[in-house]
Amino acid sequence: MSTATSPVPERGAQRPSSRSARSGSDEGRPARRSLDELRALAERGAAELRSGSADEASPAEVVAWVAANVSPRLAAVACSMADAALPHLVAEALPGVDVLFLDTGYHFLETTFTRDEVARTLDVRIVDVKPAQTVREQDAEFGKDLFSRDPALCCEMRKVAPLHQALGGYEVWFTGVRREEAPTRANTPLITFDERNGLIKVNPVAAWSFDDLIAYATAHDVVVNPLVANGYPSIGCAPCTKPVAAGEDPRSGRWAGLAKTECGLHV
Ligand code: SF4
Repeated sequence: MSTATSPVPERGAQRPSSRSARSGSDEGRPARRSLDELRALAERGAAELRSGSADEASPAEVVAWVAANVSPRLAAVACSMADAALPHLVAEALPGVDVLFLDTGYHFLETTFTRDEVARTLDVRIVDVKPAQTVREQDAEFGKDLFSRDPALCCEMRKVAPLHQALGGYEVWFTGVRREEAPTRANTPLITFDERNGLIKVNPVAAWSFDDLIAYATAHDVVVNPLVANGYPSIGCAPCTKPVAAGEDPRSGRWAGLAKTECGLHV
C-alpha cells in the first residue's frame, strides 16, 4: 500500500508522497513492447478470452490472463473511487498494482475518503493523476466554473489529457466499464487495443450488472463510496454529478441536463 502523485500537484491538496505518476511508476519498470507487439497480444487475448461470446471469460480469468502475459509493473488500474471492486479484483492476481486516480480537484469528500480507504486496505499503489493546471489556474485562464460552460474542454484538461500522459509507461490498463451502464458501452469488449493511448485496454467486469458489482464488494468486504447508497450509482466530479431516482438510468446524473454523457476516457 503506497501512493504517488503526477507531475503538477494541486495547491493545498498534496498528499505525503509526491513522486510523479510517470517517474514514480518508471522506477524498475521493464521496457514496454512495441505497439505492434501489444496489438497482436490484444488480439490473442480477445480470442483466448472469448470476448463477446456467450461463454466469455470471467473477471478473475481475464485478470489471470493479463497476469500471465504482462509484467505487474506494466499494468495499471483506472479507478473513479465509486468502489474498490476493480482494484481488489486486479490486486488478487497482480499485488502492488498501480491504481490511477484522476485527482481533478473537483471530487466529493466521500470520493477522497474512498481513495484513502483503498490505499489503506488494498495491496495497491495509488497514483494521483493531476491536471497540468490547478482549479485556480484554470479559473484564471478560462474563467470560473468552466465545467458549466464547456464541460468537454474541462474534462479534456482535467481527465483525458492527464490520463493519456499517465498511461504512457504501461502496457495494459484496466477499467471498470460495464456494458449495462449506457448504450455507448453496450459493446464493450473484455480486451482491445486502445489506439488513442497506445496500450492494451482491459475491461474485466464488462458483463457485470450493478448488483454483481455490489455483490462482489460485499463478498470481499471492499470499500464502496458512501454516495452509492445515497442515490449516486455513477460518481464523477461533484459539480457534474447529481443523484438519480431508483430505476432511472444510472448515468443520468452525470452532466444532467446536458447532451454530454461521457467524459471522453472511454469513447
Ligand atoms: S466532470 Fe465536470 S468538473 Fe470534472 S473534469 Fe469533467 S467537466 Fe470538469
